[in-house]
Amino acid sequence: MESRISGHTKLFCLIGSPVGHSGSPAMYNYSFEKTGIDAAYLAFDVPLEKTGDAVQALKTLGAGGFNITMPDKTKVAEYLDAISPAATLIGACNTVTVDEEGKLTGHNTDGVGFVRNLQEHGVEISGKKIVLLGAGGAATAISVQAALDGASEIHIFNRKDEFYANGELTVKKLTEAVPGCKTSISPLEDEAALKAAIGGCDILVNATKVGMKPLDGLTLIDPSLFRKDLVVADTVYNPRETRMIKEAKAAGCTAIGGIGMLLWQGVAAFKLFTGKDMPAQEVLEKFFS
Ligand code: NAD
Repeated sequence: MESRISGHTKLFCLIGSPVGHSGSPAMYNYSFEKTGIDAAYLAFDVPLEKTGDAVQALKTLGAGGFNITMPDKTKVAEYLDAISPAATLIGACNTVTVDEEGKLTGHNTDGVGFVRNLQEHGVEISGKKIVLLGAGGAATAISVQAALDGASEIHIFNRKDEFYANGELTVKKLTEAVPGCKTSISPLEDEAALKAAIGGCDILVNATKVGMKPLDGLTLIDPSLFRKDLVVADTVYNPRETRMIKEAKAAGCTAIGGIGMLLWQGVAAFKLFTGKDMPAQEVLEKFFS
């Protein structure tokens, strides 16, 4: 690594807080080396109130681009020159590109990563009916990308917590922006509605924190609702296989864990940053297996 860094090396980075646990530096630095790109990637702990200062500093330093994680993903939009249509609908950016004139454009690759992960498992989203558990950041990115990529229906279920209003807002935005996709929301507590929706859908997605440590061992779905022609996808990647995924597999469903979403959102960001393909298979084996 050290021998690669010169006076010309371009800086890329992650900002957010905390960032110490992030796998992004390892993934990007490995990929820069493998693709012969003279760049280095660091992670900077930037609390919400310092987001503007950090963006200004990165502009001054001539950074090639940067990723944003919580809690800065929404705030960062205030400091950008342009925002992609998907990131505008999602209301959050996880990737910022910098062009030759220094113009900063915000993107969101989380939904792209989710859809690509499904494709890598032989599942196309176009024309599909989706039941989506969750109305937070990941769920919003998935619903927007799924609607833009041609899903026919998205029925969101979320418990009546502080995220429910966010789900209602997503339904409102998507109904206006993508009228070809029928979007709705119901309380997760409405078990009859959930059962009926899963019975009539093609793809069931968990984008809540249920299944993720410390909620591992929990699931929101009664396994009796699974059937062989249902695709069941999780966003949770820690643990690699959640209880929901294990039970879906046992019932014969196509069951897709969340680690691929993490990989493919990074691949999409790498492409936006460099115009090149990340060596995805190698990165998957080296850092995500
Ligand atoms: P968030 O805080 O924005 O949203 C949390 C969501 O979980 C809300 O919908 C909330 O209502 C729901 N929730 C929390 N506890 C619950 C409970 N006990 N019962 C029912 N619902 C509950 O979080 P986020 O950033 O959207 O993350 C959600 C999940 O997505 C996490 O598990 C995270 O690991 C995963 N994620 C995965 C990737 C990836 O690349 N694979 C990327 C982002 C997030």
